[in-house]
Amino acid sequence: AHQVHIIGGGLAGSEAAWQLAQAGFSVRLSEMRGVEGTPAHQTDRLAELVCSNSFRSDDADSNAVGLLHAEMRTMGSLILSRADAHRVPAGSALAVDRNGFCDAVTQAVEAHPLIELVRERVDILPEGPAIIATGPLTAAPLAAAIAGETGTEALAFFDALAPIVHRDSIDFDIAWFQSRWNKGDGKDYINCPLDREQYDAFIAGLLEGEKSAFKEWEKDTPYFDGCMPIEVMAERGPETLRHGPMKPVGLDDPRTGRWPHAVVQLRQDNALGTLWNIVGFQTKLKHAEQVRLFRTIPGLENAQFARLGGLHRNTFIQSPRLLDGELRLRSRPNIRFAGQITGCEGYVESAAVGMLAGRFLAAELAGTTLSTPPATTALGALLGHITGGAAAETFQPMNVNFGLFPPVEGKKRKVDRKMQYTARARADLESWLAA
Ligand code: FAD
Repeated sequence: AHQVHIIGGGLAGSEAAWQLAQAGFSVRLSEMRGVEGTPAHQTDRLAELVCSNSFRSDDADSNAVGLLHAEMRTMGSLILSRADAHRVPAGSALAVDRNGFCDAVTQAVEAHPLIELVRERVDILPEGPAIIATGPLTAAPLAAAIAGETGTEALAFFDALAPIVHRDSIDFDIAWFQSRWNKGDGKDYINCPLDREQYDAFIAGLLEGEKSAFKEWEKDTPYFDGCMPIEVMAERGPETLRHGPMKPVGLDDPRTGRWPHAVVQLRQDNALGTLWNIVGFQTKLKHAEQVRLFRTIPGLENAQFARLGGLHRNTFIQSPRLLDGELRLRSRPNIRFAGQITGCEGYVESAAVGMLAGRFLAAELAGTTLSTPPATTALGALLGHITGGAAAETFQPMNVNFGLFPPVEGKKRKVDRKMQYTARARADLESWLAA
């Protein structure tokens, strides 16, 4: 029998299997493709890239995902090493020849003496030690088994992504802190006021804006309560948003002492208070349209977005509540989760969380513990988002970005600030690895 069972041979599962096998542990890696497909994958190769062939920016000095690349290389990532080997020209981005890349990952995993790749669909929770890395398109029977363990409200099948704004890009000469009717501690929301003209123009922009289409297999999407796209709400009538997420009642603009015609509210998104999401603003508007339109909102003229809005099929769990700091399921610590199902977003992030899950489990099997990576590193910041930083009820998937890092002190030019984040991360990763 194998020492570890990993379910899902995607970006996360392949990386986790590699890390465990390299540490000397035997792995059964179950992958259903080859027996049964998913709506998005085209092949039976491991770590198939379902859409773009880009791992995004490779700039480790001023970009958070570039920094994550560098950290993963330092830690012997299979995914990064094979991506580097199959790189195609893409400026400062790391893009790969998709077939060469996933063939290389598949060959490396198949050739490893400690990994057995089994083509099978797993329908029940494993006994453990195990890692579940079945991704955004987890097969339905296993999703049902997970929901049985976690409660159905803790497993989502769609993400409803509201845009997220860096707080330091909001203009507080216009925006103000206040909770509706001054409930709670009174400062839980940031409010941006719109007058009638601004509101009407905003609604017109929503209706005219170019939207991304649902994929064929996403088309039957029922809109759940509370996650209808704003443009669909606007289609129902010009006043719908003013009675929904843009409701102004109970919010006094300090410059006029009155309720504005409409209000856009932002709610704190991470424990650090550096990131704020626009409440109720999930949307299928194209990204460029979102940036243009949301910057017409008074107070957000210079908004920098940590994430733009979206709505996609995406299976993920309420990790901040369900998982401990080492990615273990609290109710069954013999099972870890990894990859996009934990609520990270993206190829690189999924592989990174797979790498961490594999390393944590390897340490546990060796009778030691691996301390969590410092919150100042890209790995630590990403892990912190999944296991602690975000509120469980409103938890939504996110790419790695500097807003997840503890802020660097002092006012600096943006480029300098980014350099400070990455320099601090490099130093802290080095001390962590040395310890
Ligand atoms: P996956 O890579 O999907 O791996 C999970 C594996 O588990 C799959 O191989 C699946 O066949 C298998 N599996 C599922 N259920 C079972 C089961 N019960 N038993 C056995 N095996 C099972 N990210 C980007 O960075 N760029 C993009 O362009 C991008 N485009 C995307 C497009 C779509 C349509 C989707 C759905 C996601 C996209 N993502 C993108 C997001 C995400 O980064 C990728 O989906 C990524 O592959 C996630 O890695 P993963 O290892 O968590 O899951």
